Amino acid sequence: MKPLIAGNWKENCTIREAIALVSGIKGLVKDSGHADIVICPPFTALRDVSAALKGSSMMLGAQNMFYEEKGAFTGEISPLMLLELGCRFVIVGHSERREYFMETDLAVNRKLKLCLKNNLTPIMCVGESQQERNEGVTKKVIEREITDGLEGIGKKEIERIVIAYEPVWAIGTGLTATPQQAQEVHAYIRQLLSDMFGESAKKVRILYGGSVKPENTKELMAQKDINGALVGGASLDAGSFAEIVKRSA
Ligand code: PEP
Repeated sequence: MKPLIAGNWKENCTIREAIALVSGIKGLVKDSGHADIVICPPFTALRDVSAALKGSSMMLGAQNMFYEEKGAFTGEISPLMLLELGCRFVIVGHSERREYFMETDLAVNRKLKLCLKNNLTPIMCVGESQQERNEGVTKKVIEREITDGLEGIGKKEIERIVIAYEPVWAIGTGLTATPQQAQEVHAYIRQLLSDMFGESAKKVRILYGGSVKPENTKELMAQKDINGALVGGASLDAGSFAEIVKRSA
């Protein structure tokens, strides 16, 4: 399966900084046809990054969107607005949204469905906290996030969804899950998907996220059920991000 490497810039980069960063990445990943590359800048920089990506095979993604197409929802962003800017992907249910913005599995589910209706590819994030891992309930948490988040999704639709396993304790902490720890959960996710969607499960890309760096990319990517990476901190440095892309081959 062709790996997908997505950079989540979070709440970083003014427009000027975003243009400089994407230009740097563009120059460094020219020969990286082995991977699909997605850049997810903040909303305010989407238009300019979209323009900067012209002529490149890199794709544009948003970090969030709302689950209604339009209406009286102050401050929210519609999939229609994202499409207009050239977005093809949307990160849905990132742990920071779940933690700081009280995003529930139901909200994640509604967002996924609206993404699919609008031909946007959702990158749906799941993952356990440090406390949940310590308590031995990692699989229980993942099972709930997968089954509730994907409720009502069809066998053909699941093939248009990307899943990202991101252990919350590894995000932005410098702690990475070992390749074995990650593979164990990825295999479990694949099994859950297989129970829910049969053969289609084999076609779903499951990304790993959590302090991915050039130094740990190869080992993580070598795992059977890891099909790419969602990269936070390291995606803010053009050289590091390009190196991660290169080592995902
Ligand atoms: C993320 O934000 O999805 C992420 C994995 O962040 P980091 O790479 O910084 O841990």
